[in-house]
Amino acid sequence: VTDWQGKNVTVAGLGVSGIPAAKVLHGLGATVTVVNDGDDARARAQAAELEALGITVRLGDGATLPEGTELIVTAPGWKPDKPLFAAADEAGVPVWGDVELAWRLRGPDAAPWLAVTGTNGKTTTVQMLASILKAAGLRTAAVGNIGVSLLDAVLGEEQYDVLAVELSSYQLHWAPSLRAHSAVVLNLAPDHLDWHGSMEAYARDKGRIYEGNRVACVYNVADKATEDLVREADVEEGCRAIGFTLGTPAPSQLGVVEGILVDRAFVEDRQKNAQELAEVSDVNPPAPHNIANALAAAALARAFGVPPKAVRDGLRAFTPDAHRIAHVADVDGVAYVDDSKATNTHAAEASLAAYESIVWIAGGLAKGAAFEELVAKSAKRLRAAVLIGADRGLIREALARHAPEVPVVDLDRTDTGAMLAAVQEAKGLAQPGDTVLLAPACASMDMFANYNQRGDAFAEAVRELGAGA
Ligand code: ADP
Repeated sequence: VTDWQGKNVTVAGLGVSGIPAAKVLHGLGATVTVVNDGDDARARAQAAELEALGITVRLGDGATLPEGTELIVTAPGWKPDKPLFAAADEAGVPVWGDVELAWRLRGPDAAPWLAVTGTNGKTTTVQMLASILKAAGLRTAAVGNIGVSLLDAVLGEEQYDVLAVELSSYQLHWAPSLRAHSAVVLNLAPDHLDWHGSMEAYARDKGRIYEGNRVACVYNVADKATEDLVREADVEEGCRAIGFTLGTPAPSQLGVVEGILVDRAFVEDRQKNAQELAEVSDVNPPAPHNIANALAAAALARAFGVPPKAVRDGLRAFTPDAHRIAHVADVDGVAYVDDSKATNTHAAEASLAAYESIVWIAGGLAKGAAFEELVAKSAKRLRAAVLIGADRGLIREALARHAPEVPVVDLDRTDTGAMLAAVQEAKGLAQPGDTVLLAPACASMDMFANYNQRGDAFAEAVRELGAGA
């Protein structure tokens, strides 16, 4: 689309993507109507701001397709089975997400995208990637699902050489024509299945990230499903499949040899068959899942032509965000660790694997997940479990089946004080040398605004505990 003048565009959803999208489209001369399910005080304030610009806003009705709509730009979280999309389908109206809009407006002409998706590790990997690109002297930013609107990044004042782009499965679902320079699917485990409808549909949406890649499709050697997605993708001629592995790399792979991160895919020196990049101890924290993230970030950077030294410097300069395996305090010889960001079973499995004797605080919104495998794999590491939140019954049942000897405290509460009670219970169960680990394996929205608030509540409770000890 080049002529936006007078084009009737409906923006679905007020919020972090809808508001910038509405403003951008309005600025291009489109006739914009925003539709929103909610009609609360916050929505009204946001609506007033947009209406002052001359944008029409319909609150409390996200289901009806406005008359004359030629295009819908939707918030990524809107489920494909919503009546609005059925109406659009019937009327032959295309639906784009904000990522698709950003791509169509500037993508092909502006900075190339190095794109990252996966069930877990996206934010960490994108931040490591941006750190590596910066160490190479490139103008870049970590954008997308990480909380920085792609529209703002591609249309803003700032000039970039390359973008490190985090994409969620929802964003990929609504971005049919996106074409990255290179991309990675870090891993695939069941998550958001209630939204996508099935594991197949979820994998298909993740796999879109490889479509049309120009230089490299990066996959996880240990996760065959990611390699399958590369094989199914339609890519540009000359685009290579590049694997990453925690083991010794084969040709066209990055891996680890005797504590060194090694590249056998992009080797500058023809006399050599491998290029040393960094040491495992350069990765923070050097836990196995995080070394995998570092290798994936290195692969994308190397595909863009970044030299080995910048990989090492970038990894050294990187520090992880809050609530990701963050050590909060030691109280009476017990370590308290906040991995509130473990919002699904796959992430919780990675953090449970990092400790030997654990009092596990878990529970929240299960999002359709099953806990059998997680509990069966982690049972031998559990001293005890303390369960909170709406779907804790599912975890209790899995524990009863696969870890009947592990003591379980089922806190039948979802109020905000429940976290303090959970930490107190955990303290009573823990012995010196143990780790009390908040790795909920669930989303937080039954009890908290988001995982940050849940992690903060945990840290606060631990501090109270320490003060009273
Ligand atoms: P995302 O942006 O995909 O949610 P984050 O980097 O924020 O990923 O990490 C989310 C959670 O997943 C954290 O709890 C972290 O411990 C865990 N995690 C990070 N990387 C991996 C990985 N490669 N495999 C499994 N779990 C991971």
